[in-house]
Amino acid sequence: MFDRGLTVLKIRGIPIRLHITLLIFLPYVAYVAASQFSLVAASLDIPPEAIRLPPLAWGAILAVGLFVGVLAHELAHSFVALRNGVRVRSITLMMLGGVSQMERDDPEHEAWMAFAGPLMSFGIALGSYGVYRLFTLFPAPAEVGAALLAFAITNAIIGAFNLLPAFPMDGGRVLRGLLLRRLGPVRATRVATAVGRGMAVAFGLFGLLTWNFILVLIAAFVYMGASAEQARSSTRELVRGFPVARFMTDRLGDAYADESPRAVAERLLRNNLVGARVIDEPLGGGEGRREIGVVTVWDLARQLGRGAAPATVGAVMPVDVPRARADEDASRSIEALASGEASAVAVLDGGEHVIGLVTPAEIQRALALAGALGAFRTPGAGG
Ligand SMILES: [Zn+2]
Repeated sequence: MFDRGLTVLKIRGIPIRLHITLLIFLPYVAYVAASQFSLVAASLDIPPEAIRLPPLAWGAILAVGLFVGVLAHELAHSFVALRNGVRVRSITLMMLGGVSQMERDDPEHEAWMAFAGPLMSFGIALGSYGVYRLFTLFPAPAEVGAALLAFAITNAIIGAFNLLPAFPMDGGRVLRGLLLRRLGPVRATRVATAVGRGMAVAFGLFGLLTWNFILVLIAAFVYMGASAEQARSSTRELVRGFPVARFMTDRLGDAYADESPRAVAERLLRNNLVGARVIDEPLGGGEGRREIGVVTVWDLARQLGRGAAPATVGAVMPVDVPRARADEDASRSIEALASGEASAVAVLDGGEHVIGLVTPAEIQRALALAGALGAFRTPGAGG
């Protein structure tokens, strides 16, 4: 849901995107910032006639400043992630702030990464407060000082709000990191997500009582995020210790890279297959035939549903399908699927040959049966 957005620039290879909701929301933020600016100016005893720019103009400047502050906050997360060797796909600035799309890291690294954002916000707040103090020493327009102070306050609020221990917000991730040593990943996640859901309910009630629509939205996001993380953690624990092959389907066909997506989709449907190995074959076949990837029915359905699907399966095929060996622990595959970026994990034999797929549907099927039979409680026992 966060993938729509206009890429405006790249910083250290990370695409920075503006989401459509941000543009719709900007006038409202400018309006709120304008009243905040007026409040700060009044508290500094600046007479209204001494303010040359209309408050709404200051509001617009501060609104843009707010999103620059949010971008710096997200970049702080991303730079720590990059340093830990975690891939950052993009940063999207949207209505409720910023979102960094990145691969998942282990919870301990993640705590530091989560802490870096609020730290940056507090740093900006402190820096702009310092500039404001310097400013008061010189005969400069007082309204610029008021704007600097308003900017400092906004960034301090961003830092403090994000540090609330409401998983999946930054503070909740820091909390999980702190609990990790004592409780282990499973219980730490359970506590952090329970606190997150509790805080979400509190935000939601408070937002409803004060007619604060934004807070209600944030509450909904936090609640869903905490629930999703808890579900992911439970699934990961259930499959831990079992090989990927246990969750794999081998209902896989073959497709040539230059075939049309429609022809392949029809064949998969007719033969009741989940996906196809994509094969690049030179004219005449034989030597040089190689598998270049896999395509799933979901990839095909998505592309065909859009109307203007690419002409060949090779172009529809996703480029970075996660891969796993058949004998490897299945918990890592859960992570890959949980990030929502891939519709399946390709399962390899010893070499590069794809022998099956792990899909969310296959995992649900296996878990439903295993839950009913109690079969997952004893890893290694039986087949
Ligand atoms: Zn953050």
